[in-house]
Amino acid sequence: MKKGSSMIIILLSALMIVLLYQLVSGEGTASERKSIMEDRSDEIRTLEHQPETPYKVVIDPGHGGKDNGSTGASGNFEKDLTLQVALKVEELAKQESQIEVYLTRSEDRFLSSADRERPEIANQLGADLFISIHGNTYEDPSVSGAETFYYHKNSLFLAKIMQKHMIQASGFRDRGVKKEDFFVLKDTNMPAVLLEMGYLTNPQEENEMLTEDFQYRMASSILDGIKEALNLN
Ligand SMILES: [Zn+2]
Repeated sequence: MKKGSSMIIILLSALMIVLLYQLVSGEGTASERKSIMEDRSDEIRTLEHQPETPYKVVIDPGHGGKDNGSTGASGNFEKDLTLQVALKVEELAKQESQIEVYLTRSEDRFLSSADRERPEIANQLGADLFISIHGNTYEDPSVSGAETFYYHKNSLFLAKIMQKHMIQASGFRDRGVKKEDFFVLKDTNMPAVLLEMGYLTNPQEENEMLTEDFQYRMASSILDGIKEALNLN
């Protein structure tokens, strides 16, 4: 073999080793990671997933501990409502062999926003979906309705699906799907949405949201949305 061609082989091997190392160590620049996420919109429906492994879905009950979230018309805290609904999603999902639900908290516990604990939990798990549950607030008590937030492009399909199911379950006014840079949506590596189920500052909506019946309907609609998003119907 000529000296020149063995040099080329050595150089190519070195390049391969560097590329493999980057692949294995999962390192990449922020912009590389961003483009991977932007390309991911349909990955969840098509690629990589082994049919026998359940999908991991992180349900994030908003607020908790010293962070009460908003205070409803009756004085109830948002953090309690979000936990009640999240626990019901977890309970109902036990019937679904294809879905494993993980809660970011299952009790009245504070999670640090500064440390990005919520998205971190989902990223560490390698979750397939992230759904944060909230109740809305406004100074004008007549304001009502439900809305769904997303940030990355790969989450828009999930936001539309979840909004549709939430409105079907509650019959609340449809305030639509909106883009917002909430950190739980920005820092998660998988399709992620934040649900505002209704206005706690609207006495009628709050009354309804505090009932077990509403919470089970909402939990079941969230589960239906998850199944539709994962093509599990
Ligand atoms: Zn909230």
